[in-house]
Amino acid sequence: MVNSSMRSLAILSLIASASVAGAEVFHIAELNTRQILELDRDRTIVIIPGGILEEHGPYLPSMSDGYVNLDESNRLAGDLSDRGWTTVMFPLIPLGSGGANEVGGQQVFPGTYAIRPDTLRAIFMDLATELGEQRFRYIFVLHGHGSPAHNLALDQAGQYFRDEYGGEMHNLAGYLTDSFSAPELLTEDELAENGFSVHAGVMETSHLIHLRPDLVGPDVGQAEPVTGQGIADLMELAAEADWPGYFGSPRLATADIGHAIAEKRYRANLELALRVLDGDDLSDTPRWSVIAYQREETQAVISGSRAEHSRRAGRQNAWIRRTGSEL
Ligand SMILES: [Zn+2]
Repeated sequence: MVNSSMRSLAILSLIASASVAGAEVFHIAELNTRQILELDRDRTIVIIPGGILEEHGPYLPSMSDGYVNLDESNRLAGDLSDRGWTTVMFPLIPLGSGGANEVGGQQVFPGTYAIRPDTLRAIFMDLATELGEQRFRYIFVLHGHGSPAHNLALDQAGQYFRDEYGGEMHNLAGYLTDSFSAPELLTEDELAENGFSVHAGVMETSHLIHLRPDLVGPDVGQAEPVTGQGIADLMELAAEADWPGYFGSPRLATADIGHAIAEKRYRANLELALRVLDGDDLSDTPRWSVIAYQREETQAVISGSRAEHSRRAGRQNAWIRRTGSEL
């Protein structure tokens, strides 16, 4: 007994002393100043998961995107540390921009607690500044969410870090221009029923059934399809007062489809991360923010959101001026 407990003590102290030397996954929230100072900046990757709080209809949790991002972040941290990198995970930042409810011009919706794109950019530029000043060189942001402005804000924060601090900071999901569906697992009829969906349809519901079945409404099998054929249809459907908050057909979702999507998305993320670490220049890699801003059909949604954001900022700034609350 003495021997075995002494042995476990020895193993424990070995683990403790190796805790910042080897390729491990750390959580910044748990590290003290000594441990942070010891991190070899050239061999350390900071991973920041994000997750917008956004309505996903009556069957999915509001942080659906965050659960996906967190899963991808954890997998990425594990895979990169297996390759000899030390990885440091940030806590999930539950702030993102542009709820899908904006597609129909419904700027307020239960479950959506979004921040303006310039607020999002300021937060990630501030984090880039803190990390850059502390000489960290590699930052991966995993904050997948479809809003063009959300992605543009995160892309710009990454560019700021690269320009000002000479390191690498990338919004990985911003390069994922594929919507990562698994149409091969659906029949023709099922694909037709799901139609064109960008939010909380069969694919995203499947992804959540795969990751967090405990958080998917048990009656999802009775979900009425909300079927559109393109973005113009979605804008009309989502403008209806009784729009349930999703597009497509969540009732068709399965864990198998979710598993297939999770694998495809994760592989794409890992590939991008490895390219950055190999020194590849991603500046010519297509980005969703660039593509989306060029699409004529998304212009109406983008300008509607922009008007609402300046209305909100105007109201806040007027209050600050009126009450002398400048910081
Ligand atoms: Zn989502």
